[in-house]
Amino acid sequence: MPLDPKRTVAELRELQELTGNADGAQRVAWTETWERARGWLREKLGGLPLEEEIDQAGNQWWTLRGASDRAVLIGGHIDSVPNGGWLDGALNVVAGVEVLRRLAEDGSPATTVRLVNWADEEGARFGRSLFGSSAAAGSMADQDELRERRDAEGVSLPDAVGAYDVELDGALEARSQLEGAAAYLELHIEQGPVLEALGLPLGVVLGTFGVERHQVTFRGQAAHAGSTPMDKRRDALAGAARLELEIREIASRVGDGAVCTMGGVVTRPGIVTSVVETAECLLDQRHLDAAKLAEMLSNAEAASRRFAQEEDVEVEWERIWSIEPILFDEGLISLADEAIREVAGESHRLPSGPLHDAAEVSRAGVPTVMLFVQSLRGLSHTKLEDTKEEHLELSVQALDRLAAKTIARVAAG
Ligand SMILES: [Zn+2]
Repeated sequence: MPLDPKRTVAELRELQELTGNADGAQRVAWTETWERARGWLREKLGGLPLEEEIDQAGNQWWTLRGASDRAVLIGGHIDSVPNGGWLDGALNVVAGVEVLRRLAEDGSPATTVRLVNWADEEGARFGRSLFGSSAAAGSMADQDELRERRDAEGVSLPDAVGAYDVELDGALEARSQLEGAAAYLELHIEQGPVLEALGLPLGVVLGTFGVERHQVTFRGQAAHAGSTPMDKRRDALAGAARLELEIREIASRVGDGAVCTMGGVVTRPGIVTSVVETAECLLDQRHLDAAKLAEMLSNAEAASRRFAQEEDVEVEWERIWSIEPILFDEGLISLADEAIREVAGESHRLPSGPLHDAAEVSRAGVPTVMLFVQSLRGLSHTKLEDTKEEHLELSVQALDRLAAKTIARVAAG
């Protein structure tokens, strides 16, 4: 059976028909629709010489035994956000099915090849993304907090996952699945506008951005808007406003894809007749290079102190969340470039703003790479998410080439 990328597109439409409605995809993890999608996937792989298992975190695995026990993994997630798109996550899994068919047809591969459908990548129901992959990677460390989480209907996370035979305390046992993993490959839609702007169907992902997220609070003095002369004010919003403009300068100075966002400012007292006493700013900074991310952060801190002094207000920083950049494997990045050039002529390297299951696998020490296929208008997590069919077909071919090259490299040791 030669590779048939058109079949992948047809199967993705079939899955959308089966698990979506007029508002989009409804494959939210730990729901009946998600379970229907998992059953559909099982049927698709039914005729092939594979071993199937579901691990302790709810991840679905299919193993095609090869000459070597070292395994090349292909992974994706069939879960979606509510009213989601037809491709986010599902593309990787359904393309992986096609690659497994091709490999099985060619006989026993030189290495073992495994397809994984990660459980609950999106975290749509309980606000906890990368559930299955973080368990397998051994980085899930928030069980105590997860035990307390409830969905909008009041169902607890342990009860919801328990209905699918997952025991929260035992989820980390899924770690054994990554033993012997020699490489991890993931194809995903870009979910951003970069490849479309370049007119390229495919790109290689260098890694996922590191993130520094802070609350920055400026404190001045509330004072009457009519009786306080302009030179006597201690206006907290002035500090916040100057910082918002400065982070754009910082991002452009540091460059190489740097992004800084002030996503919100809450002012108090927040009435038209008073100078602002406190301005709480939410600041998100991202970069693929840890040193540059640290430089952006210290530049923003220094600027905020300068503005605070000049405006005669105080400033205070509190970290909300951070994660280090996760860089994918150099050797696999080169193979991915080759695979893309072979099927599409030109390749492009780009970072990923969103996190993906691949980041967890990479953090666990498994050499990892991702392929991005162009997203139309950069839209995702909406029913408007789309990619041209010809680009989807190229992406299946590129994944297949990358798998073949990776198997050959791993087998050669
Ligand atoms: Zn996804």
